[in-house]
Amino acid sequence: MAVFAFDNSYQRLPERFYRPASPAAARAPRLIRFNAALAEELNLDFARASDEELAAIFSGNSLPEGAAAIAMAYAGHQFGNFVPQLGDGRAILMGEVVDRDGQRRDIQLKGAGVTPFSRNGDGRAALGPVLREYLVSEAMQALGIPTTRALAAVLTGEAVHRETKLPGAVLTRVASSHIRIGTFQFFAARGDDEAIKALADHVIARHYPELEGLEQPYLALVNAVAARQADLVARWLSVGFIHGVMNTDNMAVSGETIDFGPCAFLDEYDPRKVFSSIDQRGRYAYANQPGIAQWNLARFAETLLPLMAAREEESVEAANAALTEFGRLFQARWLDLFRTKLGLVGEEEADLDLINSLLKSMQDSEADFTRTFRALGKVAGGAGDPVLEAEFADPIGAGDWLRRWRLRIEDDLRTPEERQVAMEAVNPAVIPRNHRIEEAIQAGLAGDFTVFERLHAALQSPYAEIPEFAAYQEKPAVEERVERTFCGT
Ligand code: AMP
Ligand code: MG
Repeated sequence: MAVFAFDNSYQRLPERFYRPASPAAARAPRLIRFNAALAEELNLDFARASDEELAAIFSGNSLPEGAAAIAMAYAGHQFGNFVPQLGDGRAILMGEVVDRDGQRRDIQLKGAGVTPFSRNGDGRAALGPVLREYLVSEAMQALGIPTTRALAAVLTGEAVHRETKLPGAVLTRVASSHIRIGTFQFFAARGDDEAIKALADHVIARHYPELEGLEQPYLALVNAVAARQADLVARWLSVGFIHGVMNTDNMAVSGETIDFGPCAFLDEYDPRKVFSSIDQRGRYAYANQPGIAQWNLARFAETLLPLMAAREEESVEAANAALTEFGRLFQARWLDLFRTKLGLVGEEEADLDLINSLLKSMQDSEADFTRTFRALGKVAGGAGDPVLEAEFADPIGAGDWLRRWRLRIEDDLRTPEERQVAMEAVNPAVIPRNHRIEEAIQAGLAGDFTVFERLHAALQSPYAEIPEFAAYQEKPAVEERVERTFCGT
């Protein structure tokens, strides 16, 4: 049986950073899926473990020796409203391990019962959200986007009560850390500058060691987190991802995508698209995400002001400059990614307009985001215009746009094949489409996990067109579209 070489650095922080929390016993744990490749990456040797042993560990029934067993404290702005105490209400940090590459990783049980931060919640997770998080977080990884990972999914053998009775499950989540903007806000709300300093130093040592010893490390930390978030959100937009609940407690300072609640990918392109049932005003709509990230970063910068320059005005000015820098970095990264998606090399003034006019035609035509870019790659590789036009309700608009695009790529010295290959490396063929996730969840609720397994397999090579998984490249028929997603609560 594997031994976890835990090294729980977060637990060595002051006691007010967390509360002890033990997993509740699960009546009849049953393994749904174990991520053996990730386990290896984490230096965990489970080669000889049986499914029963794995289910016992990753339901929380059999807590390994040396586990931290704590719930982390945090606060957060939820839809713009500040809540001074949230914390891990349905998550328990099992502990930290150092992986094969020397990187520290958190292992956390999500849905293993109440903690001191559960408030009125039951600390449990239902099967549906566990399967969704497993699929989408692993798909993000395969897409090459920074993300928390899924190590295991286990049925608890117990029901959880939501609107109806649902099977309970536990997701084991792996993250480079679970420290959120809201973790800083927890201490800022209490005027606890000492804790903010300890937390900031911990984050720098853990995620941004290159900042150690700088003259203004805390200002540099704001800048560094902003840079990673700018990169992350630009990448989200480049694959049509909508996080759905970008509250400050759901934004990790590491720059990983975290908390896959009502998240979803675009089918037809619409920048105003919102899936989350609780996001009635569209605060977290697709195109709002960079603005929201910047707003969240402003909240982050505020928590660090007490640690910055002695003169308050100067600190505020410097923090504002960091936020302006976020805007610049995001825009540059977005443009870079979309240039590559369109197969443009070099930079021309008119590129932004060329990109935006394609997006506008897609919106007018309800063109599928993923399929359109994939089709454009084929056209770049020598396929005829109808391949792209087929994605548009109005093929004339697509044809006009293609003429402009051809003029732009005229001087490109690459062969058509080379251009197509470069485009296909950023334009996925397979994404976790909402209706497919829903299908996997429904089958899972009926006790059949083969649909989940197959979808998971298809999502492992998102940039390849594998004949066996061709069906996953299809967009939903209008009546198959899933327009609403729900949080795991
Ligand atoms: P979320 O919006 O899912 O990120 O969760 C927001 C807050 O609600 C966090 O503090 C969670 O720990 C807490 N929470 C969500 N679901 C539950 C649950 N079933 N039991 C207890 N706390 C929960
Ligand atoms: Mg959360």
